[in-house]
Amino acid sequence: MSIKLRLLLSYISILVIQIVLMIGITFLFGHIKFEEENPNSDFSLPGKTFGHFILDANKLNREIDIQTIINKAKLLSPSYLDELGSMIEKYDAGIIVRKNDELIYKSPLLFGFDEENHLNAFLEPFQRKKLPKSDVTYGTLIQKDFYYSDAEVSIFIVVNWKAVYDKESSSRNLITGLMVIFFIISTVIITMFIYRDINRSIYQLKNAVHEIKKGNLDFKITKNLNDELGELSDAFDQMRIKLKESNILKEKYEENRKNLISNISHDLKTPMMSIKGYIQGIKDGVADTPEKINKYIDTIYEKAKTMEVLINELFLFSRLDLQKEEFHFQKIDIIDFLEDCVEDLDFDLKKIGGAIFFHHDIEHAYVNADIQKLKRVVLNIIDNAVKYQGEQPIRIHIRAMQNDDKIIIEIQDNGRGISKEHLPFIFNRFYRGDPSRNTQISGTGLGLAISKQIIEQHGGKMWVESIEHQGTRLFFSLRM
Ligand code: ADP
Repeated sequence: MSIKLRLLLSYISILVIQIVLMIGITFLFGHIKFEEENPNSDFSLPGKTFGHFILDANKLNREIDIQTIINKAKLLSPSYLDELGSMIEKYDAGIIVRKNDELIYKSPLLFGFDEENHLNAFLEPFQRKKLPKSDVTYGTLIQKDFYYSDAEVSIFIVVNWKAVYDKESSSRNLITGLMVIFFIISTVIITMFIYRDINRSIYQLKNAVHEIKKGNLDFKITKNLNDELGELSDAFDQMRIKLKESNILKEKYEENRKNLISNISHDLKTPMMSIKGYIQGIKDGVADTPEKINKYIDTIYEKAKTMEVLINELFLFSRLDLQKEEFHFQKIDIIDFLEDCVEDLDFDLKKIGGAIFFHHDIEHAYVNADIQKLKRVVLNIIDNAVKYQGEQPIRIHIRAMQNDDKIIIEIQDNGRGISKEHLPFIFNRFYRGDPSRNTQISGTGLGLAISKQIIEQHGGKMWVESIEHQGTRLFFSLRM
């Protein structure tokens, strides 16, 4: 689910909850009517207190009316009036009975009521007062006037409006409070539910950044969501893997560079020492015949040539790397070219018990190539086949195959092969496979890097397939 959809859903659910809440509250208020008719419930809702009070006051009113018919005298009995008063005392309301001008009964609850100023006179038209303001505490709700044989009697039902309204507003506040709390809690729960996974992903990414900052790349970022954050987590993990790979490669390069420097120093130092030795021999007169002197000079020349090869190789690689090497392209028949190479190499290989074969099913294939450089590629590959030979006598097969407008050259040997671990890196500059096995074999780790650069400058590609202990197949393609 995308973040956009997630946000939309969260807004919709919060909106729906609000609507449900409103409906719920309306429903609860709707219940007040029911509650008024079923006053046994103690649960106090806004309006309920007032509603119940009116109901009970009316019941009381009816009771008084009935008593005026059945037993009017009873209405003057304090114990009976106490009984009547108990019907409404829970609403902070009470009864006052006035006989002529004298108050003969007053509910104890109405202790603070100032009857002098608030009670109407006998038969004075009763006007139900509007809802009292907060400073008016008591008010008359019902007034009933009767004639007795000897007196005029008024019965008042007086209510402590403030107390009723306090109860009302406290229950109203309670409902509003509950509504707000419920709204906040539900919003928090929904938000937490919706953002939980987002948070988890962000937290994981934050931790990952910290780990990378510390230099640790050995952890895994799991994808929690199928959205933009999930994609980001994936991309981040890919970045971590690439970074780790590049670190490993960097370490390998660094190691190779160190090895290379020590190899170059060693490879240059050995012939240099011999050259120095032979020159010293000539100077000291050890070479005392013209034949000996000639032999010494030949050896010095050979050693200098070895040094030159190494230096040339480094120089060529650096020129290719900087794209400063010049290419002299000309149209050549690659089949003829390979036949010449095989012919040249056949003699040397036979000397060491090896053999080379050339297979091709096309007679001619013309390519634009720099002959010297292409020869270097073929020699490099054959040289490796010899250097890394297995236990069997060397067998090299060269194949030329046409593929659309390309010619593919394969050079296969039956040598020791290259392990899977080293295979992806053998074209890297200064990379030498398994150093423990290679220490006895001279090399700079530049041969294949140079070859690949040369083929690429020809517009072709170079790749390798190898099975350890069985042999290696090096391929390169050229545009025909
Ligand atoms: P080097 O100077 O070490 O030979 P290269 O660039 O020519 O450098 O080769 C890189 C590495 O690839 C070698 O060190 C070797 O481990 C491996 N390699 C190349 N060719 C072969 C082969 N024919 N058989 C086995 N290993 C090979």
